[in-house]
Amino acid sequence: MKKKMAYIGEIAPLSLSDYFGEPACVIFFSGCNFNCGYCQNWKLKKSSNEHLTDIESIKKVISENKLVTACKVTGGEPLLQLDALLEIGRFAKSIGLKFGIDTNGSLPEALAKILHLLDLVSIDIKADLDEESYRRVIGLQSPPVSEVIKSIEIAMRSDAYVEFRMVVIPGYNDSTKTMKSVSETLRALGYEEKASKGKACFNLIEFVPENAFDEDFRGIKNPSVSLLHDLAVSSGLKNARITHRGLGILKPVY
Ligand code: SF4
Repeated sequence: MKKKMAYIGEIAPLSLSDYFGEPACVIFFSGCNFNCGYCQNWKLKKSSNEHLTDIESIKKVISENKLVTACKVTGGEPLLQLDALLEIGRFAKSIGLKFGIDTNGSLPEALAKILHLLDLVSIDIKADLDEESYRRVIGLQSPPVSEVIKSIEIAMRSDAYVEFRMVVIPGYNDSTKTMKSVSETLRALGYEEKASKGKACFNLIEFVPENAFDEDFRGIKNPSVSLLHDLAVSSGLKNARITHRGLGILKPVY
């Protein structure tokens, strides 16, 4: 029988910071359809034959670590390899693990097909949800903003916990105007109701210049803890959080 393969750049058998409150096995799929200048995982932007991995060997790594209670797939953009993702998700659930993914939100149809397996979906919000703002951050002439909005709608209607992740990049998305515009869009799509049930959060994350893909982005200073805090407050969203190296890990704002 032909082996099922996936483009996988890396596996972290045990992470304490990638899945809320759960020790998790994290799988990094390679290949991405965005070209973000700030990308922190840019070595995984392109998939190559070196990354081709037998899915059975991934299942072995997941099941061998008895300390983990969850499995998370990140990237890259995991939904570009939907079949492999479904296979891993089904396996993780079959051995009693929680299952989650990170996504840039550009593939709502693929998201809809895997939603039944997801306990957690983390969707990137790159900037104000309009084409011009997205173009500056993701490096594509035609940013799929309407697809991102569709993904948010789909995730919001699901039972999964939804994290909206926004990497705060000074000069690109660090204004209170951006926070208000993003929070208005999220509210219109049902954020407050889901957050009230403890099923959604808005996480503002420190941009780390030294890890950035693009040289221009490497010259930007990282945002301070107080800036992230003020932006989280200005969003007015329930369950707003900040993530900054200066704080250790995730901190709720309110
Ligand atoms: S930041 Fe995420 S969406 Fe952007 S290029 Fe990197 S992996 Fe892709």
